[in-house]
Amino acid sequence: MIAGQCMVAITVTEPEAGNDVASLKTEAVRDGDHWVLNGLKSFITLGGDADILVTLARVDREAGRQGMAFFAVDRRSAGVSTSQIDTYVNRPAPTYRVSFDNVRVPESRRVDAGFREIMAGFNRERVMVAARWLGHMQNALNWAREYASIRQQFGRPIGANQSIAFQLAQCHVDVEATRHLTYHAAARWDSGVPIRDLILDVSSAKLLATQAVVRVTQAALHVGGGWGLTEELPAMRLALDALVAPVTVGSWEIQLRAIAREMGLPCD
Ligand SMILES: Cc1cc2nc3c(=O)[nH]c(=O)nc-3n(C[C@H](O)[C@H](O)[C@H](O)COP(=O)(O)OP(=O)(O)OC[C@H]3O[C@@H](n4cnc5c(N)ncnc54)[C@H](O)[C@@H]3O)c2cc1C
Repeated sequence: MIAGQCMVAITVTEPEAGNDVASLKTEAVRDGDHWVLNGLKSFITLGGDADILVTLARVDREAGRQGMAFFAVDRRSAGVSTSQIDTYVNRPAPTYRVSFDNVRVPESRRVDAGFREIMAGFNRERVMVAARWLGHMQNALNWAREYASIRQQFGRPIGANQSIAFQLAQCHVDVEATRHLTYHAAARWDSGVPIRDLILDVSSAKLLATQAVVRVTQAALHVGGGWGLTEELPAMRLALDALVAPVTVGSWEIQLRAIAREMGLPCD
């Protein structure tokens, strides 16, 4: 994988198990030195292109969340089929439905990780995702500032109007606030604080980044006017791609719930 010779897709989400990962239904049943997988996954980024589908399945129905394990499934195994889900977002890395129909996976491909590890993984990913959207909004703001300086209407740059300039000034505050919160979470993680003790920092950074990126890219789109809606300018693509930010790796509501719980509120 590190050499770039093998592509992996994280295969967790199901049609009926989105944010509620614990309710997933894909099942793996032991058969000698193999496991037999059955189930349907959805929204798997690069699921149809990857060599290995790192798939979360239930191995013990009675054990609830503890009864889940990951399997490194070869996508070319008999019984694996994929079909693309067309989205308006993330087009360079398409998402797929992945179906497992009596797929035999050797015991050696069972990964020593399950629900607890994917949740810890999501917390780590939230810092990275905040950084990703920080870059995205910085890019959108850079573009909008430049466009507002050169686009002339009524004999002057549109950025000479306070109504436009103030929107971009507000975007600057969003970008810098996100930068500080994200770097703060990353620095604490780097300093050795275990990720489970960083939920407040990590969820706050993820929440702000994914709210701010929508605001900033919408402002950039607005600054672009009619041309912003064309493929000749980057504004629409930036705005469309930002719409996935609040959805993946725990939605806004999931981050708010985590923050509220860390604040000691009795939030279910
Ligand atoms: C482009 C893209 C790429 C993806 N890539 C992957 C991938 O590679 N691997 C993978 O496994 N998954 C992937 N996903 C799936 C993604 O993680 C899920 O879409 C996400 O978990 C949300 O699930 P859902 O769409 O079923 O929404 P739902 O969970 O049905 O949520 C719908 C709405 O209800 C709200 N909601 C849900 N529960 C609560 C609650 N308790 N309190 C308040 N509000 C709530 C949510 O916040 C949301 O607003 C991808 C999704 C997209 C769109």
